[in-house]
Amino acid sequence: MNKMLIGIDIGGTTIKIGFISQEGDIVYKWEIPTNKENKGEGIAGDIWQSIENTLAEQNLKMEFSSIGVGAPGFVNRSTGIVEEAVNIGWNTYFLRDKINNLSGLPVVIENDANLAALAENWKNRNDHSENVIFITLGTGVGGGIIVNGDIMHGANHTAAEIGHVLVDVNGYPCNCGRTGCLETIASATGIVRQAMDYTAAYPDSALASLHTKHGELNAKDIFNLAREGDAHSENIVNKTADALGFVLANTAMITNPSQIIIGGGVSKAGEPFLSKIKKSFNKYVLPRVSDCCDITLAQLGNDAGMIGAAYLAKETLMKA
Ligand SMILES: [Zn+2]
Repeated sequence: MNKMLIGIDIGGTTIKIGFISQEGDIVYKWEIPTNKENKGEGIAGDIWQSIENTLAEQNLKMEFSSIGVGAPGFVNRSTGIVEEAVNIGWNTYFLRDKINNLSGLPVVIENDANLAALAENWKNRNDHSENVIFITLGTGVGGGIIVNGDIMHGANHTAAEIGHVLVDVNGYPCNCGRTGCLETIASATGIVRQAMDYTAAYPDSALASLHTKHGELNAKDIFNLAREGDAHSENIVNKTADALGFVLANTAMITNPSQIIIGGGVSKAGEPFLSKIKKSFNKYVLPRVSDCCDITLAQLGNDAGMIGAAYLAKETLMKA
């Protein structure tokens, strides 16, 4: 039997762990909570302990070739250090070496959105594109950009922060401390914030009455109301799609991708939302760039980070 890969995706609340074949198929997967006590110091130990426990409890007879680990924040793949991960508490965390010491296996680490980009490109494209823009629309907006077959990292691991490209300098304040980032509009949080403006301005609107009924709104409510023809909700969806098309067009002008892949919870709004983004993209981009570029929805859902981690583990070992 071929040796397996271990793919790990560390998030702010849960850690996803998978035993994954060399072809990228998940053979066994589970989750553990992210223990953020003591600034997340014990996370590497938790992960390895859980892997050993799972192998024993499930009586799995497997051998492993290498481990890939994804983490949020600023990840230095060369040194193996997570330089900063605000929602875990890490500051200069020696993630690669800790897991390597525990497991005795080769370990590679990478930013989680970059891994999702690799995974979507690996599993769902026949052509394995050399130039890809991946954007994930969740609580925030993340991105991963592949250029000439390689993940773009930048001078200090801050490349492809598509969520923090400015779209409106007079807009909403962003978590990053600036004003008007794409994330303030196109994340689930941003969509709800737009809706709250409407509920305040139009207390008799469908959005306001839904808010009163449920005590809150979520992005799905707004997409549902838009589908039913509510004009305010349609405006929000249109504004969101336009901001995305605008930023993707400007990003595509720089990297000239053959694929743009849209993932994250908000992308579950599906084809109607995608077609609005495409329309806006085509409006803002040079035809020569749009002619060779497909815009599609991501396919791997929450498993993307884990699968991308396994892919990188496999590739890195092959090159070593
Ligand atoms: Zn920002």
